[in-house]
Amino acid sequence: MEITALDGEAEKMVTDCNNIKAKVLTAALPYIQKYTGRTVVIKYGGNAMIHQELKKAVMSDIILLSLVGIHVVLVHGGGPEISGMLKKLDIPSRFIDGLRYTDEETAEVVQMVLAGKTNKDLVSLIGQLGGKAIGLCGIDGGMIKAKKIQGDYGYVGEITEINTEPITQAIQSGYIPVIATVGTDCQGQTYNINADTAAAEIAAALKAENIITLTDIRGLMRDISNENSLIPVVKIDEVETLINDGIISGGMIPKVKSLKKSVLSGVEKAVMIDGRIVHSILIEMFSDEGVGTMFIK
Ligand code: ADP
Ligand code: MG
Repeated sequence: MEITALDGEAEKMVTDCNNIKAKVLTAALPYIQKYTGRTVVIKYGGNAMIHQELKKAVMSDIILLSLVGIHVVLVHGGGPEISGMLKKLDIPSRFIDGLRYTDEETAEVVQMVLAGKTNKDLVSLIGQLGGKAIGLCGIDGGMIKAKKIQGDYGYVGEITEINTEPITQAIQSGYIPVIATVGTDCQGQTYNINADTAAAEIAAALKAENIITLTDIRGLMRDISNENSLIPVVKIDEVETLINDGIISGGMIPKVKSLKKSVLSGVEKAVMIDGRIVHSILIEMFSDEGVGTMFIK
C-alpha cells in the first residue's frame, strides 16, 4: 500500500515537472518569434569568463539561441588571460581610463592570446557542446580596420571600418561567429581594440536588434561596494555625468560608452547583465525580467 502511495506521489511530481517544462517553453515562444532571423551581439567579458562551468553554461545558451534561428554574434574579451601571459613574460600590465596601455610587445601578446588562445578555446567549447562556431579576429577577411586611438595608449585601436561580410557569411553558413577584437591597418600594424568598443561597432554595422554585455558585476552600480545599488535603467544623456562624477570607472567606462553608442546607432535593446548568473542570457532574451542595466534614449 505504502509503495503505491509513493509511486503515485512520484508520478505526480514527474507530471508537474513536465508541465512546468512545457509552460517555460511556450512562454519563450513569443520571444523566439520576435528574435528569429534577427541579429544579437553578445559581448562576453574576460572577467566573467574565468569559471569553466559558467563558460560552458554561457556557450550552451548561445547554442540554444542560434538553434532557434537567432543570428548570434559572440564578441569576446580576454583581459585576465592577457594579463596572465604578460606576467609570465615579465611585461607589466597598465590601464589608462579602463584601456590597456599597449606597446609593441603587448600588442603581439594581445594578438597571440586573444586570437590564438581565448578565441579558439571558446570555439572548441561550442563544438564540444554540439554547436557550430567559427573563430575570427578583426584581421580575418579584413573585418576590423583600425587606427591609433587619440591619446597616449600605445597601439590601442579605434575602429575606422568594419567589413561585415565575414560575419554574415559565417551566419549564413550556420556558424556562430566568435570574434576576437584585434584590428589592423593598411600597413599591417596590429591594434588592440577594447572588446566593448568593438562589440558596439559590430552591432551598429550589422544593424543588430540587441546587444547584451555580460560582465562580472550585477550591472551598472551607483556604488560598487554596495550590492543593492544597481541602476536598472540609464538614459544615455546621463552617461557623461556618471563618468565625470566618478561613479563609473575602469573597464566600466568603455563598456558604458559602447552601450550608449549602440543606442545612438539604432540598436533596439542595449543591456549589461551579470555574467556570473547561470543562464542570464536566456532570462534576458526570453522574458521581460530586467536583469542588470538597460540603456535607453
Ligand atoms: P569585463 O571583463 O567584463 O570587460 P571590466 O573589468 O573591464 O570587465 O569592467 C567591469 C568592472 O568595472 C567591474 O568589475 C567593476 O570593478 C568596474 N566598475 C567601475 N565602476 C563601476 C560601476 N559604477 N558599476 C559597476 N562596475 C564598475
Ligand atoms: Mg573590460
